[in-house]
Amino acid sequence: MHSIVHCRSCQSPDLRSLVSFGDMPVADLLIDPKEAQHPPALFPLHLVFCPQCSLVQIRETLPPEFLFNSDYPYFSSFSDDLLAHARDNAMELLRAEGLTEKHQVIEIASNDGYMLRHFADAGIPVLGIDPAAGPVSAARNIGIPTEQEFFTYELAQHWKANGRTADVLIANNVLAHVADSLGFVKGLAAILKPTGVASIEFPYVRDLIDHCEFDTIYHQHLCYFSVTSAQYLLAQAGLVIHDVRRLPIHGGTLRLYVSHDRPVSEAVVQLLEQEQALGIASVDYYLDFANRVNSLRDELRQLILELVESNHRIACYGAAAKGTTLLGCLGLPRNVMEYVVDRNVHKHGRMMPGSLLPIGRVERLAEDQPDYVLLLAWNFKDEIIRQQCEYRNAGGKFIVPIPQIQVI
Ligand SMILES: [Zn+2]
Repeated sequence: MHSIVHCRSCQSPDLRSLVSFGDMPVADLLIDPKEAQHPPALFPLHLVFCPQCSLVQIRETLPPEFLFNSDYPYFSSFSDDLLAHARDNAMELLRAEGLTEKHQVIEIASNDGYMLRHFADAGIPVLGIDPAAGPVSAARNIGIPTEQEFFTYELAQHWKANGRTADVLIANNVLAHVADSLGFVKGLAAILKPTGVASIEFPYVRDLIDHCEFDTIYHQHLCYFSVTSAQYLLAQAGLVIHDVRRLPIHGGTLRLYVSHDRPVSEAVVQLLEQEQALGIASVDYYLDFANRVNSLRDELRQLILELVESNHRIACYGAAAKGTTLLGCLGLPRNVMEYVVDRNVHKHGRMMPGSLLPIGRVERLAEDQPDYVLLLAWNFKDEIIRQQCEYRNAGGKFIVPIPQIQVI
């Protein structure tokens, strides 16, 4: 593990501490039950702020090969809401950019092709790149050409030299995951055609702080951007944010439309003004976050322990990375909660890192009828509660932990 001493964006050595989570397991590395007797390595998780460029980031960098290995269990196509979100994003880009078979769409972190297939269906040439073997093979199986690699500045230069450039470049939920933020955006600038547009999504740090979404902080997630800090980073690669949108997905997402020199929209100006009024570039904006995280954690821990003491059974829903952070922060004794369910069949039969809760099928909730289900995947709350009407009709209740504790 490497611990940064300079900001990932502006290289300033002045990094201020916001919250330390102590030692945590790697969130997405689900455990094979055969290996459960060897506890996985724990690594510090420490959130810091750079006053010079206002980027919130974690200090620790684990090797990406370790974080996104061939076992990487995340397949985009297991969430209906995410699929609908991707389809809308694709259709809008198709129309707005007037794409034809003469254009090229490139997606970085293209996962299982959940997004590119909409362009491919419309006859637009597409190319995906993703480091995870499972999703890459799923994408190739549905006919989406996909390179199994990490996107770097060096690779981008190589692609540019070979004429692999994009009219539309998509990078959703990847910018915040790369250690070399500046190299990554320079790579985007290299393969984006002079008239092209890049559509970039990441969780909005303002939602993280305002809604106390502390469980979205984990080792894979290195940076937490505002428009202000993203603009600082992109400007270093000669790119401009010409349009922006706030979206509800993943607990609050920013979508930036980035180009070499398109005129800047009123939405960008307004959001930058709002951020300035909030003081998002000042450490003061973030300072009471640690206190709010601690109170929410203590309240949730107490609720769960009281329920168990009064003989209620509790399971969890959502074997996602954020669940590992939440369970890790709660630090509950073993066997307080019984198991985790998830829709992703690739996770079944494994165990959550840290808590070692076994992961099984979602149907188990209705069959087994635990009294409460802690909703670790609270960002898909509406979708999950819709799907679990049988469990709820039989008296089952969900505990929604974030932004505030709610039992429904
Ligand atoms: Zn900085």
